[in-house]
Amino acid sequence: MSQSLSGSRYELHVARKWAADTKSQDYYTIHAADLEQAPDTGEDIVGYVHSWEVGSTVDGPGIRFVAFLTGCFLRCQYCHNPDTWHRQNGKPVTVARAMREIAKYAKVLKISRGGITLSGGEPMVQKAFAMQIFRRCKQLGLHTCIDTSGRLGERMTDEELSQIDLHLLDIKSGDPAIYQQVTGQPLQPTLDYARRLSDLGRPMWVRYVLVPGLTDGFDNVEKVAEVCAGLKSLERVEILRFHQMGRDKWQRLGLDYPLKDVEPPSPELAERVRGQFRSRGLTVY
Ligand code: SF4
Repeated sequence: MSQSLSGSRYELHVARKWAADTKSQDYYTIHAADLEQAPDTGEDIVGYVHSWEVGSTVDGPGIRFVAFLTGCFLRCQYCHNPDTWHRQNGKPVTVARAMREIAKYAKVLKISRGGITLSGGEPMVQKAFAMQIFRRCKQLGLHTCIDTSGRLGERMTDEELSQIDLHLLDIKSGDPAIYQQVTGQPLQPTLDYARRLSDLGRPMWVRYVLVPGLTDGFDNVEKVAEVCAGLKSLERVEILRFHQMGRDKWQRLGLDYPLKDVEPPSPELAERVRGQFRSRGLTVY
C-alpha cells in the first residue's frame, strides 16, 4: 500500500508484514484525510485531538500542558499510541476551545518555567491547527514545544519554526534500513529536518527509543550519535527505554503487536548506549 505525498520529494510506503489480516492491513494504511493539509484561514479552525493532559514533566522543561493530536505517517513498531495514527481517531476541537483549556493553566505553566507541548500522533499532520495553537500560546507568553519525528518537516516555513521554542526530535534509528524497518518510512526527511533546525539555531532535544534487538545495535547507535554530534543547537539527548505500556492499545485495536515478547532494556544496555552519546561530548539523560 502506498500513496504519494503531495508536494514531497518522498514517497509514502507503509507495509507491515506482521499485519496478518485485512483489517490490520487497513489500519496501517495512510488515509486521504491524513494527507490533506487544511489551509490556515486565520479563522477559528478545527483540529482533531486524541486527548490532553496537564502536569507532564517529561515532555519539555517545567510543567507541561500536552495535547495529543491525531494523524501520523509513521507506523513505529514500538508505538505507544497507535490509536492516534488516523486523524479521525481524534475529537474535533476548535482552536478557541483548546485555548480556553490551556489558558486555565497558563499561570502555573509559567511559574514552573513550563509551557505547552504538542505531541501525537504527529502534530505536523495538522500543521495549520498546530501553528494557530503555537502562535496564541506565544501571545500568552507560554513556552512552546513540539514532539515530532520530523517526517513532515518540509511543511514548515522558517517563520513557523520561529514560533516553536523547542523541538523534541525523535530519531528512531541512524541506519536507514533499520529506520525503515522500525517506522515504515525513510530516515532522510528526519535528518534533513535536524540539519535545518541546526542551521537555523532552533533548540532541540533528540529522543532515542532504545529497543533490545531492534534499535540497540552498536553501529546503529553510533550513527545516531554521529548525527547528534553535528547538530549545533542540540541541548540534550534523551534515551527512552522501551517498555510494554502500549501493548494493550495494540490488542484493543485488533493489531498484532510485533514487540509483545520484547523485554525492556537492561540498565547495562542503557548505560552502554548513553556512553556512546557521552563519548562525543553530548549531554545525555
Ligand atoms: S511517530 Fe509516534 S505516534 Fe507515529 S507511529 Fe511512531 S511512535 Fe507512534
